[in-house]
Amino acid sequence: LFDRVSALLKAQVGPDVFASWFGRLKLHSMSKSVVRLSVPTTFLKSWINNRYLDQITTLFQQEDAEILKVEIVVRSAMRGTRAPIEADITVGDAATSAPAAATARRNAAQSLGHHATAALPAAAKLPVATPLFGSPLDPRYSFASFVEGSSNRVALAAAKTIAEAGAGAVRFNPLFIHSSVGLGKTHLLQAIAIAAIQSPRASRVVYLTAEYFMWRFATAIRDNDALSLKETLRNIDLLVIDDMQFLQGKSIQHEFCHLLNMLLDSAKQVVVAADRAPWELESLDPRVRSRLQGGVAIEMDGPDYEMRLEILKRRLDVAREEDPSLNIPADILSHVARSITASGRELEGAFNQLLFRMSFEPQLSIERVDELLGHLVNAGEPRRVRIEDIQRVVAKHYNVSRQELVSNRRTRVIVKPRQIAMYLAKTLTPRSFPEIGRRFGGRDHTTVLHAVRKIEDLISGDTKLSHEIELLKRLINE
Ligand code: ADP
Ligand code: MG
Repeated sequence: LFDRVSALLKAQVGPDVFASWFGRLKLHSMSKSVVRLSVPTTFLKSWINNRYLDQITTLFQQEDAEILKVEIVVRSAMRGTRAPIEADITVGDAATSAPAAATARRNAAQSLGHHATAALPAAAKLPVATPLFGSPLDPRYSFASFVEGSSNRVALAAAKTIAEAGAGAVRFNPLFIHSSVGLGKTHLLQAIAIAAIQSPRASRVVYLTAEYFMWRFATAIRDNDALSLKETLRNIDLLVIDDMQFLQGKSIQHEFCHLLNMLLDSAKQVVVAADRAPWELESLDPRVRSRLQGGVAIEMDGPDYEMRLEILKRRLDVAREEDPSLNIPADILSHVARSITASGRELEGAFNQLLFRMSFEPQLSIERVDELLGHLVNAGEPRRVRIEDIQRVVAKHYNVSRQELVSNRRTRVIVKPRQIAMYLAKTLTPRSFPEIGRRFGGRDHTTVLHAVRKIEDLISGDTKLSHEIELLKRLINE
C-alpha cells in the first residue's frame, strides 16, 4: 500500500519534488484506520505536514477507504555523530496561525502546483541568523561548494559582490541570472542568501521561489493579511527570487511589480533567476519584464569537463566527511565527468547512484559504470547544439564579447560575427527566425533572415569564409 501511494505521489508532484521531500519518507506503522509515516527530521515533518498532508491522506484513502488519518512522525537518528541542527525557516508565522488558515494555505499550495521547491533539506548547519520568511535554504548550496569555471565566472563574481556588499551598496540591480535547468542557478542564489544572512551586517534577506511568492500572496489575500505581508517585504534589504518563469497570475504579478519598484527605487538589492533571459519571459507582465531588464542579466553555461570533475570531487569530500569508508576511485570519477555532460542534475544523479552501488559492489568496472549510468549519458544521440554555445564560440573566435554580439552596435567588426552566429544558429539548431532574433538581443525575425541569406551568399563565393564556418562548426560541436 505504501509503495503504491509513493508511486502515485511521485507521479503527482514530479520526480524532482518527490526526491527532495519524500525520498526519505518511510512507513512507520499502520493500524486499521491510521497510517504513520516517518521522516528523519522535524523540519521535513513540518514541511510535509504544511504542504502535502492532505494530498497524501487523499491518496491513502483512495487506495483504502478505511483509512481515516495519516500522521508524520520523526524517527530517531540511527547513526552519524553529528545530529542535524534544525531550524524552521519556511514561514515565520506558520506555527502560530489558526488551523483553518493553515488548511487554506495547504490547499492554495496544492492548487498552485509544485514546481519550484527542489532544494534538499540537509543534515548540516543552517545559517544562524533568521531570514524573515521564504522557501527553505539548503546549507549545502554555499559559495564554498560552488565550483567556478569559465561558464559561470561572471555570474559568480556578481553574486559574491552582492553577498558581501550588505545593505545599501547596490551595484547590479536587479541581478538577473539565467540558464537552462541544472546549471547551478538555485545553488548560486541560495549561496547569496546564505552568505548575506551570515554576514556581520545581518541584512534582512528573503529567498523565495516564484511559486512560493504566489502561494504566500494568494493565502495572504484570502486571509485578509496582505497588508502585513507587504509591510514585511517592504522592509527587507535583499530579495532573492528563484524560477521567475513560474510567476503567473495578473494580480500576483501586479503585487510583484509594486514590490520590485519599491525595492529598486529605494536601492535595495534584488536577485532573480530564471530559465531564460528577461526579454524571453513572455508570460510576464511587461512592466515587470522591463524592470528586470533594467539591471544586469548574466547567462550561465554548462560546466566543462574540469568543472564537472571538481563538482564530483567536492561531492565526494562532503560524503566522506559523513562516512569516511565511502570512496569512488579517481579513474571512475573522471570517467563519469567525461561522459555525463548534460547538467549538474544528471551529474548529481550519477554521483548518488555510484556511491550507493559502490557500497556493495566496491570493484565496479568502467563497463559496469557505463551500464549503470547509461540513461544519464547522452553519447548515443547527437548532441543538441545550443545558441549560447554558438555565441560563445563565435565571439571568442572573432575576439568580441558575447554581450557585444547581442548588442545594438553596428560596427563592422561586430556585425559580421553576429551575422555568422545567426547563420550558424539557424543551420545547427531547430530554432525559428523569431526565436533566434530574440536570443540575439531581441532582434526582429527579418534581421535574422537577412543575416542568414547574406552569409549563404558570401559562402558561395568566398572559400576562406566557408572554411572559417566549417572550423566554427567543429568548435561548436566539441
Ligand atoms: P538550476 O537551479 O539551474 O536548475 P541547480 O542549482 O539546482 O540548477 O543545480 C543542479 C545541481 O548541480 C545541484 O546539485 C548543484 O549543486 C549542482 N551544480 C550546478 N552547478 C554547480 C557548480 N558550479 N558547482 C557545484 N555544483 C553545481
Ligand atoms: Mg533551480
